[in-house]
Amino acid sequence: MKAFEAVQHYFHKAADQLDLPQEIRRLLIQPERELTVQIPLRRDDGSLETLVGYRVQHNSARGPMKGGLRYHHHVDLDEVRGLASLMTWKTAVVNIPYGGAKGGVTVSPRDLSQAEKERVTRKLVDAIHQVIGPDTDIPAPDMGTGHEEMAWIMNQFAKYYGFNPGVVTGKPVEHYGIPGREEATGRGVGLLTIKLLGHLGRKAPGTRVALQGFGNVGSHAAKFLAESGCKIVAMSDHTGAWHDPDGIDVKAALRHTLDNHGHLEGFEGGKQIPGEELLELEADVLIPAAIGGVINEDNAERIKAPVIVEAANAPVTPDADERLHHRGVTVLPDILANAGGVTVSYFEWAQNRQFYRWTLDRVRGELDRTLTHAFDDIWDRAKERDLSLRTTTFMVGIERVARAVHLAGVA
Ligand code: NAD
Repeated sequence: MKAFEAVQHYFHKAADQLDLPQEIRRLLIQPERELTVQIPLRRDDGSLETLVGYRVQHNSARGPMKGGLRYHHHVDLDEVRGLASLMTWKTAVVNIPYGGAKGGVTVSPRDLSQAEKERVTRKLVDAIHQVIGPDTDIPAPDMGTGHEEMAWIMNQFAKYYGFNPGVVTGKPVEHYGIPGREEATGRGVGLLTIKLLGHLGRKAPGTRVALQGFGNVGSHAAKFLAESGCKIVAMSDHTGAWHDPDGIDVKAALRHTLDNHGHLEGFEGGKQIPGEELLELEADVLIPAAIGGVINEDNAERIKAPVIVEAANAPVTPDADERLHHRGVTVLPDILANAGGVTVSYFEWAQNRQFYRWTLDRVRGELDRTLTHAFDDIWDRAKERDLSLRTTTFMVGIERVARAVHLAGVA
């Protein structure tokens, strides 16, 4: 199933529970705008390559559209469309005043030098600057992009429209960013995992966690969970997977990646295992924090963890979701689990517009409050109606967007 179809599947399941009329469903599913652009890249060796970039603006009923920018060789229009619609529901679930969008470039950032990455990013802004802006659509980091790309976006956008730090979030703290943005998605994943465990009658200390992906989201989630007493029994990135039933030393792994261009390759803090095995290990919580579709109909029956927290976007396919649900596995869906990033992006955008600096304590406090409020509400509703957390979370998001569409008089 393609990415956008998968999101629609979850959308319809929730819309059925809400008795949402077909005409409103059609309006809410269809993206408002899709843009495909050419990105000419002059390589360091003088050769010229032509890349393809995308920006999909899914829905603006609740505010300016918001969504990350992904650099990955698998990026295509369908994936960006699926991720853009997830952003519409995600921003509504945590009730921040945004719609949903997403962008990407089909390129492997590992194949680009720093200077090439900068040229790609600036060319992308040249191609999409008319449709982004602090009141229309605000990009942010996603897989393969980080604070440097966001600084280049702000700088390139300024060449067209002048000083506008609110055009992009996830910027370096020294350059109009906000403290706590970089850790926010992983911190939110950690915080909600502990909350979920609490509702399931478990305590963090001793809880065994298997974690796929050790980039921005995975590494910060690991840090938060280890500091909360969980045992990270396995971790992986694109270079390999490591297992230690007694718990991996997360601090040592973080130090290793810091010295090793962000990669775990060469890490000696556990036994190396094949990457696919990590997902099927004996663990209390499985956290996919890398790419989409990794838990699917091929391996769903072999997943042993009773709890899955979707730190990545769309890591569980609808087929797998059905099977896991029947087996009693609790899945915390992406549009809640990884909403910490967009929540702190909202604080950064508000800070940029107020020309006022927020402290890390304030950011963390407001993030924790926002996520806790959203989680508690969804947990109670799910229990009340005996529905999965995913269907309930989508219901909350869809209800808010549908209401905004109705109040705006769009339909
Ligand atoms: P990142 O580029 O910082 O890190 C990605 C990590 O995944 C790296 O460690 C990489 O080596 C690893 N990886 C890639 N392919 C893998 C594979 N086949 N097996 C194991 N590991 C693999 O990206 P990120 O920002 O941490 O994003 C990770 C996921 O979280 C994505 O799905 C993204 O959409 C989602 N997400 C990110 C944010 C954010 O704020 N960065 C917010 C919400 C959701």
